[in-house]
Amino acid sequence: MQDADCAVAMDVGGTQYRVAVVDQGGSIVAVRKGRTQPRGGPQGASERIIAAVREVVEEAGSPRLAGIGASMASPVDPATGVLHHPPNLPGWNGYTMKPTLEEAFRIPVYIDNDANLAVVGEHRFGAGQGMQHLIYMTISTGVGGGIMIDGRVLHGARGFAGEIGHIIVEPLGPKCSCGNTGCLEVMASGTAIARRAASELEKGTQSVLTEMGKPNSVTAKEVAKAARQGDALALEIMRDVAIYSAYGIVSLIHIFDPEAVLLGGGVTQDYELIRPTLEATVQENLMGHHKGRNLVHLYALGDEVSLYGAAALVFDQQEQ
Ligand SMILES: [Zn+2]
Repeated sequence: MQDADCAVAMDVGGTQYRVAVVDQGGSIVAVRKGRTQPRGGPQGASERIIAAVREVVEEAGSPRLAGIGASMASPVDPATGVLHHPPNLPGWNGYTMKPTLEEAFRIPVYIDNDANLAVVGEHRFGAGQGMQHLIYMTISTGVGGGIMIDGRVLHGARGFAGEIGHIIVEPLGPKCSCGNTGCLEVMASGTAIARRAASELEKGTQSVLTEMGKPNSVTAKEVAKAARQGDALALEIMRDVAIYSAYGIVSLIHIFDPEAVLLGGGVTQDYELIRPTLEATVQENLMGHHKGRNLVHLYALGDEVSLYGAAALVFDQQEQ
């Protein structure tokens, strides 16, 4: 079969969805977005998404489509597309869009988790091109990731592999949503940055952050801004984010021997603040045969990484 020209890519998050037509070269030809919640639950959202797909396909000039790739903000069984307890999509547990989309469009449908698809997208269109062993780590509200080995995403036995955010980096640290203590997510995410700042301000620690708003509504973005102004508390928080992230990265490098670790997510918009400490801590803690290699880089595809990943998933499947 001759390769089709384009893929339909969709990115379904807790707040909004985006659908796009993406061509083989990685150009977004047409895109639409809308609200995922709250009307009609998953079935209602699927209907809105299907209508949006029809619109983008028409706008793109009805190209030949290789399939539909869907990125979900949830643990996913990649074989069935069934979601497992999505934290930000209440009512979607056990739901899959796969049969509905297959019936509506009569083309193959592939569904995976957003962090897994980020690594697939970076591999095909972004900073991981030409690599076969790749790790993507997103530091955002939470910490997540995707692991690629020999050019394929590592799913594990049941689709739950790649939970990078739950590497324990500080056993005596605060409690994580997963039930453990001191996971990377609870030490280095945007949420962790904001919580730590709030708790220090409540204790009366001097900081320019006290002038930026109420102590318990300080955001990670404001902490980064204060760090750029030389604020001692903010600098200390960002230094610790760099150190804990580096601990996680070192473990991943030792286990998977990747060609690159790509960092993405909101917190890395301020990467220059954490980069020197992060890189130094990684180098200090790497085993001898890895030392001197600069493996940590920023991702390349920005906010659209999941859309690119969903399209890349379709093209990858087509070539197999
Ligand atoms: Zn955890």
